[in-house]
Parts: sequence; C-alpha cells; structure tokens
Amino acid sequence: MDCLFCKIGSGEVSSEIIYEDDSVKAFKDIKPSAPVHYLIIPKKHITSVVDLKESDSALMMQLILTAQRLAGEAGLLGYRLVFNVGREGGQVIDHLHLHLLGGWNDDNSLFGVRHPRLDK
Ligand code: AMP
Ligand code: ZN
Repeated sequence: MDCLFCKIGSGEVSSEIIYEDDSVKAFKDIKPSAPVHYLIIPKKHITSVVDLKESDSALMMQLILTAQRLAGEAGLLGYRLVFNVGREGGQVIDHLHLHLLGGWNDDNSLFGVRHPRLDK
C-alpha cells in the first residue's frame, strides 16, 4: 500500500523522530501549526478513526499515553490532542494520526504561532 505514514512508521521515509517503539512512532509535523506540533501514529495501518475496532483499544491508549508523556517531556503545561477525521474533518493523510499541539506562551505569541482559541 502506498501510504506515507506507513513509510514513516517503517523508516522508509525519514522524519524528525521524537519517540518510537514496536507499535507507535512520534515525529515532528513538517508544517507545524503550533510551537510544538508532533504527530503520533500507530505503525500498523489504520485509515482513520472511522475504521477503529474494539481490538484497537490498547493501541489507541498507547497513542494517548505517548502524547501525554511527550507533552510532559516538552514541558507543556496544556496542550491539544486532535484527530482529524475524513476530508470534511480536515484529514489529508489517510493513516490515523494524533496531533499534539502546544507551546503557546502566556501572551499567545511564541514563535509567532497563535493559538486559535486564545486570541482575544
Ligand atoms: P491531517 O490534516 O490531520 O491529515 O494532518 C496531516 C499532517 O501531516 C499535516 O499537519 C502535515 O503538515 C503533516 N505531514 C505531511 N507530510 C508530512 C511528513 N512527510 N512529515 C511530517 N509531517 C507531515
Ligand atoms: Zn498507512
């Protein structure tokens, strides 16, 4: 299957790896929308949240716990975890991925990237 994130998962396509184990990989988003923007993927191909099954429960928890740990390691006090689902939901890459977004400053202007919900 010609899937970019499968190739990033296997290492066939390079990425800025933040964390990896047998079943998940985290890497920097190539076009960050926040000062800290990581993507956390299962190495196994799952197209989207729509395709999740009960048997994926442990894997999904691993994605969330990986995000939790990496957020802590990045010193994020608060952050957003986002799954875009389907084209209408903004999903462009058809391999399940969890966005970890954070690092906005108190004045919401760190590196010039602004939090969409914190603008006054
Ligand atoms: P989504 O819109 O939820 O499908 O998000 C896909 C994300 O993948 C976007 O934020 C892209 O910037 C990111 N992206 C696309 N290609 C790469 C790549 N080769 N390495 C890292 N991130 C990528
Ligand atoms: Zn894939």
